[in-house]
Amino acid sequence: MIIFFGTRQVVRDDDRAGGDVQQCPSCGQYVVFKPRRAQSYIHIFWIPLIPMGKSQGLIECPQCRARFAVYAS
Ligand SMILES: [Zn+2]
Repeated sequence: MIIFFGTRQVVRDDDRAGGDVQQCPSCGQYVVFKPRRAQSYIHIFWIPLIPMGKSQGLIECPQCRARFAVYAS
């Protein structure tokens, strides 16, 4: 039997409030970025089981789905 395991990143919606309208650097549209949060997990058979490290704040453009890291101050 082969056991598949490794790490994968799970991106979820974040409950942070949406920000102001900003220009997306990827598609150039003026959009309200969606707050998301990415967490790496150790997975076994692609089922995320064990969170690894800290989650990373992201914002996602609703137009082109480009994601940008957010560094909390
Ligand atoms: Zn965009």
